Amino acid sequence: MQTFHFPDRYFDHASTTPLDPRVLDEMMPFLRGDFGNANSIHTHGQRAASAVELARNRIAQLIQAEDPSQIYFTSGATEANNWVLELHPDAVISPFEHSSLDERAVRQEFLRLENRGAEVVPCLKPASLISLMAVNNETGHQWSVAETIQPGQMSHCDATQAVGKLPFSAAELDFISLSAHKFYGPKGIGALYSRDIPAMPFIWGGEQEFGLRGGTLNVPGIVGLGVAAQMAMDEMPERMDNAVLCNNILRAGLQDVSGVLVNSPQDGSPYILNVSFCGVVGETLVIELDHRGFSVSSGAACSSRKTEPSHVLKALDVGPECIRGAVRFSFGAGNTPESASVLADSLVQIVEMLRTM
Ligand code: PMP
Repeated sequence: MQTFHFPDRYFDHASTTPLDPRVLDEMMPFLRGDFGNANSIHTHGQRAASAVELARNRIAQLIQAEDPSQIYFTSGATEANNWVLELHPDAVISPFEHSSLDERAVRQEFLRLENRGAEVVPCLKPASLISLMAVNNETGHQWSVAETIQPGQMSHCDATQAVGKLPFSAAELDFISLSAHKFYGPKGIGALYSRDIPAMPFIWGGEQEFGLRGGTLNVPGIVGLGVAAQMAMDEMPERMDNAVLCNNILRAGLQDVSGVLVNSPQDGSPYILNVSFCGVVGETLVIELDHRGFSVSSGAACSSRKTEPSHVLKALDVGPECIRGAVRFSFGAGNTPESASVLADSLVQIVEMLRTM
């Protein structure tokens, strides 16, 4: 059997992480012999159902939920985010949210919270729910929605870039969205945490997920999410230390490059470093780095084919020239101090070359 090594030049873990081989190993039986439908009452079904409940327990433990029944499996954070907006059509969202909230908000004319730089101003207008993410996927800025809501408002936290990476607690929150593939689990599976039973299903037509999210359960995916959650609990300190180390090396390596603007705060998530190489086109840097074996991103992967400038950097008042030159580096398992250092050297060379052209 081929051994899998986490790639050391992959610096795009905010887009997705590789599937951990240990996660795959635990998923495999549910793609083979234990193929039962978790809603069937026979032995095959019940084997699948108990694996699903184990995963629900593990996720609840990872986010310190009071009860596993507060976890509803979804196809990912996009679905969980949409579910919350469906439940709260008068929600107010922050200007920094992921496109799965932001685009729907634009279409349906949801109000947005105001901001002063990275500071989010609490909403004094009537709103049943405020949505503010835990960690921004482009810059790593961190916020607390629990500290932003006003009396009578409920809270939603898109914690996709926090869960499995940083200590995170459901205490004081009403809704949380998360996705497995951001912490070495499989793609296409995630969860919505809801403190109380959601008032309405998101997908109608089945008794799955307590009658609130119809459709045959993705048992291998759910098992993978659960194992990834367990590993995150076991390995979080080492993961964080490695991200801090690689982040610091890259930051230091870019210190002497002219025209560089660091868009990530010092006290943000260590997993994300967003840098503008002002006057250079971010995509060109991405391609040049790709030629040298490095995977990085010029923005959020879900918007990487969009031509509009990042709404997050715009809200942070980054000028258009620097938005065009923004590149996001996001750290994870395979990255090493050595690969971060080679990345910094490569960037210095490429930026110098592009600037002299
Ligand atoms: N929210 C945030 C903050 C994200 O970074 C992402 C993934 N880029 C999502 C939501 C959506 O996750 P998924 O595509 O797995 O549904």
